[in-house]
Amino acid sequence: MTLDNLTLQTEYLSLDGEFYELTDPTPLDDPYLISFNPMAAELIDLDSSTKDDPRFVALLNGTFIPKGTRPFSMCYAGHQFGNYAPRLGDGRAINLGSINGWHIQTKGSGETLYSRTSDGRAALPSSIREYLMSEAMHHLGIPTTRALGIIGSQTKILRNQIERGAIVMRMSPSWVRFGTFEYFYYFKEYDKLRSLTDYVIIESYPHLQDDEDRYYKFFCEVVERTAKLIAKWKGIGFNHGVMNTDNMSIAGLTIDYGPYAILDDFDYGFVCNKTDKAGRYSYGDQPNVSYWNLTMLSKALTPIIDKERMQKKLDDFGNFLYPDAYIDVMRGKLGLALKLDEDVELIKDLIGTLQDSYVDHTLFFRTFSRYDGDRMPLFDIAMNPVPVDGWLNLYDARLAKETRTQNERQEAMLKTNPKYVLKNYMLQEAIDLAQKGDFSMVETLLYIAAHPFDELPEFERFAGETPEEHKNICLSCSS
Ligand code: AMP
Ligand code: MG
Repeated sequence: MTLDNLTLQTEYLSLDGEFYELTDPTPLDDPYLISFNPMAAELIDLDSSTKDDPRFVALLNGTFIPKGTRPFSMCYAGHQFGNYAPRLGDGRAINLGSINGWHIQTKGSGETLYSRTSDGRAALPSSIREYLMSEAMHHLGIPTTRALGIIGSQTKILRNQIERGAIVMRMSPSWVRFGTFEYFYYFKEYDKLRSLTDYVIIESYPHLQDDEDRYYKFFCEVVERTAKLIAKWKGIGFNHGVMNTDNMSIAGLTIDYGPYAILDDFDYGFVCNKTDKAGRYSYGDQPNVSYWNLTMLSKALTPIIDKERMQKKLDDFGNFLYPDAYIDVMRGKLGLALKLDEDVELIKDLIGTLQDSYVDHTLFFRTFSRYDGDRMPLFDIAMNPVPVDGWLNLYDARLAKETRTQNERQEAMLKTNPKYVLKNYMLQEAIDLAQKGDFSMVETLLYIAAHPFDELPEFERFAGETPEEHKNICLSCSS
């Protein structure tokens, strides 16, 4: 399909007018293509030749409007750093509609009804970060939004310094957030809360459509998907950075890539968001925060779902849904095929070990994927190898109970523990070059993002420990 045939649907507009505002994009000046993502294009059957169609830049810039579209921004609320904000909404995102179940949206398209005091724009650096990381997360097997392309421009926008405006075209199976439910709950618009729930069930939980107990089961599945998602984040070393309820997807996806990070050296308490002085959204606290966020969602759903039943499900999240999901992820990383109770202790011990060893998270697990009893490769990468030595005694004893061969274990681990992740210093390199008009590194990182488990000799330099001077880069929310 080419842009001539691209026809979108706008299901969300069948909801009451309070759910959205029809909004025309405000185009950027002198837009140009930075990158086109053929892997995302495939999902919506868009020909890869679209990359060379000048209308693609116009599509992202809002000057080419596809068939079936009535652009709109969505309304939502949310708890930001624990405080309730009664109306947020898409302050800089404009939805074009959906195709093949993917809702297409541009981010940075100018002011909307929900922009409040901000400019509706997105700066080039944060746009490149979102574009690349959403793709990387997908290839790491983590549910996420995707991105079809990115454009830059000459439009000046004010951040900590003058930046240039950019637009990412994002795609998601759903853009509904926990905060969308909160909006209608806090304004006591329970009919609309119900119609939102009906809409979300059709969009993201269609198997529940005809179930008499569908509202409760819907809530249960949101809890389960969230537990699995956060366990995967933890496994890969992902720190979201802004887990406000307006950034929590009702479909259990990773959404809204802001000041995120993939851990350099393992650090349970790492906080990637400079704005987050209290460390509310630290790497290690992500399960607790998601529990809190789910609790806020449950509160918003009390007009239509029994409170006690929801509380029971929330208890399950803490008691076993999240812990089990996490232990499963970690078993995978350790190459353990059998599920033994003792694994919980082994994994707890590993977390303490990683914390005390000053070791690169990704490099540790990748090196470990080739473990054959020789401890030296692991000692070599840890600043303090002593805890690793102690923990390997436990691991060796545990391995003795496995029936898998060493080869089978190593093969499985090499498919679970990536060689390449997009660390902040790599993204910064791509951004620095892009700001000088060189987008080659964006393409390189897009390629690396799509091949996390492969050996890519030409990109070996990105597989090692993060260079000391680039470790623990923190970013702020304003972008
Ligand atoms: P975030 O922390 O990026 O999830 O954003 C929180 C809220 O602020 C959302 O409603 C965003 O749409 C809005 N927002 C963030 N940046 C801008 C901006 N530059 N212009 C308008 N709204 C924004
Ligand atoms: Mg957001």
